[in-house]
Amino acid sequence: MTIGIGLIGASSIARDTMIPAMRNHPECEVVSVFSSNPERGKSYAAENNIPRAANSVAKLLADTDVHAVYVSTTNELHHQQVLAAAKAGKHILCEKPLAMSLNEAQEMIAACREAGVILATNHHLRMGAGIRKMRELIVEGAIGKPLAARVFHAVYLPDHLQGWRLNNPGAGAGVVLDIVVHDIDTLRFVLNAEPTEVVSLSQHAGMATDDAVEDGNMAVFRFDNDLIAQVHTAFTIKYAGDGIEVHGSEGSLKIDNVLGRELSSPVILKNTEGTQQFELTQHPIDDKTIDLFVDAIQGQGKPGATGEDGERSLAAALACLESARTGSRIEI
Ligand code: NDP
Repeated sequence: MTIGIGLIGASSIARDTMIPAMRNHPECEVVSVFSSNPERGKSYAAENNIPRAANSVAKLLADTDVHAVYVSTTNELHHQQVLAAAKAGKHILCEKPLAMSLNEAQEMIAACREAGVILATNHHLRMGAGIRKMRELIVEGAIGKPLAARVFHAVYLPDHLQGWRLNNPGAGAGVVLDIVVHDIDTLRFVLNAEPTEVVSLSQHAGMATDDAVEDGNMAVFRFDNDLIAQVHTAFTIKYAGDGIEVHGSEGSLKIDNVLGRELSSPVILKNTEGTQQFELTQHPIDDKTIDLFVDAIQGQGKPGATGEDGERSLAAALACLESARTGSRIEI
């Protein structure tokens, strides 16, 4: 059966990455898009070859050709739109951060469970071949006991995304809800461990236009295996490059250029056997998200990142914000 997908949100991420990924799946079809601005909705549908534009979420959800929705509106809207989609019996792939509060996230998870629909969170980084290899090597014991990690994810926010992320706290602006959620999800996946506490400092380096919005953050998280992880995120740094390192009692792992959507640099393992490099073939990262979402809808396995994964990364990001705000160590 073809799975018809309705887009809730005429967004950049849908246009640039997710619509192409949906179209790469032989059993997926993008059938409709909702925009809060009917004229923009119509032109977005025309520009992206989407058959229908709906001028309300209710209309999109009433469409019997829509079996699943992809929610990629600004963050404060995810909660109500996911609840409405669950009530209409549609499966849901929701963008991160899943919601603005833990209560909202828990309500969304419960509503989807009750309605018997799949809830997936679009934490795409764990789909990457390098990240998956890193997780596998840690499980195999290649670095002994993991002790410390470092995620460097300070980037320059592209001009076309310099809108609500910088000036609208009500929409979930700021680098923590935008990027730290991804990094925590990636660490949870790689380490197979949960963050338990955080200390952090935020920065206002001149790009965010609202004083309540941070455009840089450095945080240290403790995990339940006692590992400590340093996470640096920013919207303001042009040339740092990105990467992830995990250091253990018997070795170290590192990948550069892994926190974007392109093929990463090789996974580098250093231990008593010397230095090994693992060159990987990358399955396009968003295609894998859609493959696993469709499989889950068809009763095979779970989505790449579930609603619960979205809730846990949100909990860590909210604690990170609270630590920066209060100057205290915060339990997650
Ligand atoms: P956009 O700013 O592109 O879109 C968000 C909303 O803004 C849209 O739903 C749309 O409202 C409105 N909008 C978009 N473009 C215009 C425009 N030209 N004029 C007027 N309104 C416009 O946001 P993103 O695509 O960057 O982010 C959307 C969501 O996806 C967020 O939750 C974000 O965190 C997440 N995201 C996730 C990524 C990932 O890697 N998983 C990467 C990037 C974003 P309407 O629909 O009502 O027309």
